[in-house]
Amino acid sequence: MNCLLCGKEMKKGGIIVSGRTIMALEWYPAIEFNKRGLKSWNRTDGKELLDEACLFGSKFEDAFYCEHCNKVIGLFNVRKESES
Ligand SMILES: [Zn+2]
Repeated sequence: MNCLLCGKEMKKGGIIVSGRTIMALEWYPAIEFNKRGLKSWNRTDGKELLDEACLFGSKFEDAFYCEHCNKVIGLFNVRKESES
């Protein structure tokens, strides 16, 4: 996969989520994401990331690293509205 920012080849990899606390990963539109604090109940339009890898002690595939930009881009599945 090529970097969305610079177009160069990215290194395929994954993200390991470690720790004992269950975590939820959610994507938010920028206007919601930029609100102060981390509380999800202050935000709307969140997309819960589906992969079990988002739970504790887990591994998440499909993350790509761009050496040039020093960024990681992940491909997360989104839970459909009807499943939640
Ligand atoms: Zn890049």
